[in-house]
Amino acid sequence: MSGGNAIRGTRVGAGPMGESERGESAPRRRVSYWCANGHESRPSFALDAEEPEHWDCPRCGFPAGRNEQSPPAPPRNEPYKTHLAYVKERRSDADGEAILQEALAKLRKQREGDF
Ligand SMILES: [Zn+2]
Repeated sequence: MSGGNAIRGTRVGAGPMGESERGESAPRRRVSYWCANGHESRPSFALDAEEPEHWDCPRCGFPAGRNEQSPPAPPRNEPYKTHLAYVKERRSDADGEAILQEALAKLRKQREGDF
């Protein structure tokens, strides 16, 4: 249960290294992205950085784009699905269910961290 947390920890925690890496004092601008579900996310970028064309929606994981009227289509084959299919295939009932629940819990945690 510590794998995903380690990465998020450096971002959320106020360690001196994390701060200098994030460039807390550098001026930033916010850019709006919309996903196919209508979620708006507004990540911030450094002023001199070029914003990416697509941004993963932190709420549902769909790709989000700059155009609210025509957000990018949801992905056909999500990595999650591939993983779930794999788990189902080799499922040993309770064992597979436990793995599934753990994966889902991890996903939720990651998204909360992003949001
Ligand atoms: Zn979304």
